[in-house]
Amino acid sequence: MMFDTCRILVTGGAGFLGSHLCERLLADGADVLCVDNYFTGSRRNIAHLIGDKRFEAMRHDVTFPLYAEVERIYNLACPASPIHYQHDPVQTTKTSVHGAINMLGLAKRLRARILQASTSEVYGDPTVHPQDESYWGNVNPIGPRSCYDEGKRCAETLFFDYYRQHRLQIRVVRVFNTYGPRMHPNDGRVVSNFIMQALTGKPITIYGDGSQSRAFCYVDDLIDGMVRFMGVEADEPGPLNLGNPSGLTMMELAELVLRLTASSSRIEYRPLPANDPRQRRPDITKAQRLLKWQPKVPLEDGLNRTIAYFKALIDGRL
Ligand code: NAD
Ligand code: UDP
Repeated sequence: MMFDTCRILVTGGAGFLGSHLCERLLADGADVLCVDNYFTGSRRNIAHLIGDKRFEAMRHDVTFPLYAEVERIYNLACPASPIHYQHDPVQTTKTSVHGAINMLGLAKRLRARILQASTSEVYGDPTVHPQDESYWGNVNPIGPRSCYDEGKRCAETLFFDYYRQHRLQIRVVRVFNTYGPRMHPNDGRVVSNFIMQALTGKPITIYGDGSQSRAFCYVDDLIDGMVRFMGVEADEPGPLNLGNPSGLTMMELAELVLRLTASSSRIEYRPLPANDPRQRRPDITKAQRLLKWQPKVPLEDGLNRTIAYFKALIDGRL
């Protein structure tokens, strides 16, 4: 096994994606150091890993330097949902930019391979569909989403400058909408909103007319893609899109969630948020070719697993 003797740092390891990644890396045989400031993540997400001898959790804010000895770094620390990243936009940019500088500095000293969780948001409100990695994006530099979008774009710049200037081994992943158990129930994202609303009998809030489209990837598929990319031995910095290419409208998603939860919630229309992209769908040709990877979990299965998680959360079983 490639990860048998490897010590791996996961920043943002107590978050939604980070906690699944820690779990996967431990299962692969690695030692995992999870670093998180618990802004949007929680100890509950990693509680089941705490007893494992190969797992260590450290409270730390990545905007400050970190001293640790590891062979691989996955940099996921950053609030990901608009409600959370707009709560303190200056801190969001700092987390992306200073966090990248600190983690790249650490990787440089250790000569460690480092993966950055970038985002489809670097494409902004895209004028090209679906988006492939060569598209430069259409991002508003001064809007309410800019602290996140431009922070992530600057982090990509830093990663590629460390790659060119310091010959660092980097892997930049552009993550598209991902969902699954351990999403934050109040993060305002569409999957968690619709499921929580359906399960609690509240109206399903559709922003705009519901004709905007997205494509949702189940968390296990996404994590598998990330781990495969980190494992590529060739000089492959990316950027690499990871996500599920099969899209649907928000109206279709609302109807699906209502059916799967057997809910009688009604639909309520709300104004569309500023700079809300009309459509977003990844072109994953490069990942398919490079990683022999593609998402396997159908939307209905993934939603059922997520619904079961939120039900347990509501019933106080978690
Ligand atoms: P999340 O909010 O659940 O996880 C982020 C984690 O980072 C949290 O545990 C949070 O406490 C931690 N964190 C935030 N600021 C920090 C700081 N300054 N220092 C240390 N820890 C800090 O979000 P997620 O969905 O798991 O996203 C993980 C990463 O993936 C993020 O970088 C996000 O931008 C990226 N991403 C996620 C998606 C998605 O659909 N989930 C899409 C695109 C990109
Ligand atoms: N959305 C919605 N109702 C909600 C939350 C979101 O209709 O309760 C819409 C939102 O306007 C966007 C889409 O769902 O068009 C996806 O939103 P999300 O915040 O989950 O992800 P992103 O916009 O970053 O793709």
